[in-house]
Parts: sequence; structure tokens; C-alpha cells
Amino acid sequence: MDSLIRRLQAFRLGENESSPDDSHKSESGKGTMLAQKLISTGTLGAANRGRLLQALYDIGASSRADLARVTGVTRGTIGGIVQPLLDQGVLAEGEVIPPNETGGKPATKLWFSKDARPICAVLLLHDRVSACLVSLEGEVYAQHAVDFPKNVANSADAFRIISTCVEKAVAFGKPILGIGVAVAGMINTETGTIVTVSLAPFLDGFPLETELNKRFGVTVCVDQDTRALLVGDRWFGQGRGRRNFASVYIGETLGGALYLDGHLYRGPAGAGGEIGHTTVDIKGRMCQCGRRGCWETIASSKWLRTEAKVRRLPRPLSLDVSRLLTLADKDVPGARELIRDYTFNIAVGLANLQQFMAPNFIVIHGDIVRGGGPILRLIQESFHDLVFHRPGDDIALAFGDGECLAALRGAASLLLSELLNFVI
Ligand SMILES: [Zn+2]
Repeated sequence: MDSLIRRLQAFRLGENESSPDDSHKSESGKGTMLAQKLISTGTLGAANRGRLLQALYDIGASSRADLARVTGVTRGTIGGIVQPLLDQGVLAEGEVIPPNETGGKPATKLWFSKDARPICAVLLLHDRVSACLVSLEGEVYAQHAVDFPKNVANSADAFRIISTCVEKAVAFGKPILGIGVAVAGMINTETGTIVTVSLAPFLDGFPLETELNKRFGVTVCVDQDTRALLVGDRWFGQGRGRRNFASVYIGETLGGALYLDGHLYRGPAGAGGEIGHTTVDIKGRMCQCGRRGCWETIASSKWLRTEAKVRRLPRPLSLDVSRLLTLADKDVPGARELIRDYTFNIAVGLANLQQFMAPNFIVIHGDIVRGGGPILRLIQESFHDLVFHRPGDDIALAFGDGECLAALRGAASLLLSELLNFVI
């Protein structure tokens, strides 16, 4: 927690985007830098509220004095923002901190109320939809999942299945704040419409955000799954308190999302993030996107299975990285070489991302995470060989949380960011 506070204080006093009222000069000595303080005019209450809640997520349950210190305003200003959130049941007073030796009144720690309305989170894959409730603390419950039957012919059939799944989660109890949806496909984030989902053509062009809003009468946010993972990492995972990082999904498909200078970068209408389709081999294999030599053609789970077959490993068509490790432990011929090649291929794309955008911290999600520490270490070795190092650079890779939970928390986080006016 101390390192998080240090990181936050560093960003408050340094390298920041300016806000309408951010006229306070930085103490760093560089006159062009502006400090990111809470905005003090009453008309900007929503932005202040967003920044305060962002700070609370970053440092955990905190007293008003801690929040005043981290956000750079007076305790009076904090009180003015906190009171309506307590009245609305978003926040609650928690643990009492006894007065220190110098005296003063006892303080209480503020945190998200257990009674606050939850968010409905939906994960939409080409063959399956999952829905659940997520509390403001990130607790996932009331999970339901349905496989799409093989004979789904059109978007109306698919939407009936999706909305029934949402209804089951929502039926659990309290009214919901809204619905966040992570889709394993391309999304037009301006309109909340699905552009395309590979292997599920019946979803192409479907206005999911509008239809869910009509059906359930609450705010709905729809985005692609990798960006949802990134937002989930930002609020509940290893991206907490960071100004720059990337999240990358490595499984049947590959995708990436960037958090740069304190903002999620989506690209126009959400077109960014197609890192799986950057070319790494101009004479390489054909990709499912119709182009040749994309990173996805050498780093997806499909590549791993295809290579396992070529290299005559046992049961190649059901191979994943966890079983591959077991084969290597048993000295099955070719297993170690395949692990080395696969982790190198993965490192190539991650190194390209690092070289171009310098996120300096990359959270990896997807099937690859099943490989655990041994696979992460091999990816790290190749990655560090492939990127430039400048003195003082701190560049790291990490594996994310369990796949489905991370995606559902991410879907909820999309809505959270929208509703509570976070800076993201
Ligand atoms: Zn491609």
C-alpha cells in the first residue's frame, strides 16, 4: 500500500494531463508540468467524485485525511464529496482508527458499502455467454452461463439467450447499477454495436448496447474483452495506481489494450488493440483475418496444437501449455523445444509492443496463464533479450488472475468507469 501511495503522489505532482482548473504548478521544478489536484469548483463535482473514488480504489480503505493527502485538497473538500456518497449508500464508514499520540479525534476508514447496488457483468464469447453480479468491491457472485446451441441462426435468437442469462443473474436480489459487457470481438464503442465476432456471424452488426438498455432500462457499456481486462486490471488487479501499462490476451486469439498517461486508449470508435494482427513474418502462414504472418499465426493456442502435431507430440489436438509442461517434465521428445519456441514467439509480440509504446508493465491473460511461473519466466527471458534497456528502466511482465473472473470483473469495471466518472 505504501508503494501505491508513493506512485499516486508521484503522479499527482508530475507528468499529467491538465484539467480545467489544474493551474497549480508542479513542485518538480518543471514549470510546464501541472499537478493533478482535485478540481475545486462546485460545477465540477462529478470529476472530483471520480478522482476521489479512483484514489480510494488505488490505495484501499482510507480515512478522509489519507484521501486529502493523496488527492491534494483539504479535508473539508473531501468531506463535501464523501457525504453525498455516504448518503447514497455507495460508501460506508468502516474501521475506526484510534487517535495517535498527538491527540485529535478518532477517524474512520471509508470503503465501498456492502449494501451498494451491484453491477451486472456479461462476458460474450462466440459460443457462450456468462453473466454475474459484481459488488463495488469486486466480489463476483450469482454467476450463470449458457452455451449457444449449434443452430443459432440470427441475432434475435442470440439476444434471447443473452437476455435470459442476464435476467437470471439480476434476479438474485438488489436492483443493479447497470450492465457492463465484454465481447470477444470487434466493437464500435461509439455506438455499442458489435462489428464482428469470429465464428459467430449471427452477432455481426448487432446493436447490443441499445437492445440491452431497452430490455433492462439501465446504463449499458459494451467493449471488447481485452479492453475490459485492462479496465479490470486498473480497478481491481495489478494495474492499480499505475499511470502506464498494457494488458494482453493470449489464447485462441490475441489482443491488446493500452493504458497510457492515465487514460485507456481505444483508438477511433474502438478500432485499436489488434496487436494479434501485426505482421511478424512477411512470408508466414495465412491468418484467419486473411492476411499473412500475423503475430496470432505464431503465438495462439492454435499454433501450439498445430506445431505439436507436426512435431509428433502425444494427443496434439487437445494440448495446452499446462500439459505441455507435464510432457517436458517427463522428457517427452520435442516438448522442451516446443515450450522454448512458443514462449519466444509470444515474447516477440510483447517486445514489439514494449518497443513502440513503452507501457513498461504488461499483464498477460488467457490460456497461457495456465503455464504459471515456469512459462512466465521463459517469456520474460526472451522478452528481456528482445527489448532495449535504458538505465533506470523498470520493465516487467506479469500473469493476470483467473481468466473468467478477470473478464467479468473487467466487464463490471467498464460500467463503473462510466457511471462514477472515472478519469479512465
Ligand atoms: Zn491476422
